[in-house]
Amino acid sequence: MTEPYKHKHKHKPLIGQTNLELESFAESIGEKSFRGRQLFDWIYRQQVDKFNEMTDLSKSLREKLDSDTIHPLKIVNRDLSSSKQTRKFLFELRDGKLVEAVLMVEGARITVCLSTQVGCAVDCDFCATAKMGFVKNLSSGEIVDQFLHLQKMSEEKITNVVFMGMGEPFLNYKNTIAAADLLHHPKGVNMAAWRITISTAGIVPKIKQFSMEEQPYKLAVSLNGTSQDQRLRTMPITKTHSFSDLMRASKDYAYHSRNRITFEYVLMDEINDNPKDSEKLVKLLSNVECKLNVIPYNEIGGEYSRPSDEKIEAFLQPLKRANFPVTVRWSKGQDIDAGCGQLATNSIKN
Ligand code: SAH
Repeated sequence: MTEPYKHKHKHKPLIGQTNLELESFAESIGEKSFRGRQLFDWIYRQQVDKFNEMTDLSKSLREKLDSDTIHPLKIVNRDLSSSKQTRKFLFELRDGKLVEAVLMVEGARITVCLSTQVGCAVDCDFCATAKMGFVKNLSSGEIVDQFLHLQKMSEEKITNVVFMGMGEPFLNYKNTIAAADLLHHPKGVNMAAWRITISTAGIVPKIKQFSMEEQPYKLAVSLNGTSQDQRLRTMPITKTHSFSDLMRASKDYAYHSRNRITFEYVLMDEINDNPKDSEKLVKLLSNVECKLNVIPYNEIGGEYSRPSDEKIEAFLQPLKRANFPVTVRWSKGQDIDAGCGQLATNSIKN
């Protein structure tokens, strides 16, 4: 016996469901399972979100689905930065909670920065999201839906995905990987694995798991310091997962993976911006297959500040001798609080 069709919002939203889950869904409303595969194609590959545009579904099925909801998220606000290259979107979950995601254009590269949690439990002292505390994990559908909404808003095809929005992806490991798998699925969005980057504040056991499972996605680690004591000053997580354990797990990952690991280094005035620190980095990372991404701090009205351009230059100087590539992320979108670490949704702003 099939279950009777339920009312609006009684269903799990279709976005976020796998091929297999959509097949069972189709069966649960009295349809053949291949209808689930058709839904998968419409939702993820063709990215159509209106059932009446899903032309190869039978009329009777479309009628059954009419009152159903595809999206777990609703866009409630959007901001355009003055450069027009960065757009920030505010989404409402079905329970009314809010998350943000950012769409960035740099030439031919269109990157989306997705959130994995509402709030965050990691409590990095310099980050705006941390100030909210931890609210909840997002489901894989709520993560993927940020992508699908942003793709609709973007004139160009999105080329890269970074899990660097609100939250700690590795404290919501299962749903984050499930979301990446949906974005990577060849019959769906079909985003190449190397175009998907997951960034962690350093949850060591999860870095090990990610490595052991041979996940194809790129890994970024927010290093933000060059020693146990220095990192501990801004990242209390260093108490639980020590600097040396983090370095060891990162090296192991880089050694076994096909991908280079990225170390992110948020540069904060008088905290970690001494050229002695960059000299240390040159040595520390010399035997790791890695890339270093220096992120001059985006101010959030707290005690930390961005070093002057001269200080940033002085910090970068020793890195010219490094045997690994170094990039500087001159974050865009700070005027709309869309820069790294500026995402927070305590209340609807503006
Ligand atoms: N929790 C994950 C992903 C979210 S933060 C992580 O920690 O990696 C994404 C990046 O932004 C991290 O490298 C983080 O260190 C950095 N960041 C946080 N606050 C920032 C700020 N105010 N300015 C610049 N970068 C910041």
